[in-house]
Amino acid sequence: MTFMPKHASFEAAPESRDTAPPVVKPSNGGEVWTEDHILTLARLVREEGLSNGEVAHRMGRTETSIVTAVSRYSVRDPKARLRACMTCKRPFFSLHIGHRICGKCRVRHQFECT
Ligand SMILES: [Zn+2]
Repeated sequence: MTFMPKHASFEAAPESRDTAPPVVKPSNGGEVWTEDHILTLARLVREEGLSNGEVAHRMGRTETSIVTAVSRYSVRDPKARLRACMTCKRPFFSLHIGHRICGKCRVRHQFECT
């Protein structure tokens, strides 16, 4: 009895690209950023002016996690205003009135479109 498993048609993983931006990995297993976390992050970074390391210590997270979240939610941009993402409804720092989808959802959207 011969029978071809469906997964046999999968191609090898894509080669790494030198010019590609840092890959955003879904590394937040068990580290979900709730609205409260994002607001706390924003307060520590924007109002108290703490470094990523200090914020990590205060929030009990790794510095990598803070760096990712700061970038993902545009927390450090002084022009950014807090708005709710149209897709996931979480608060994020929107850079202008037309910027209504958070970094995380934008990344997911890019994966879906390519
Ligand atoms: Zn979102």
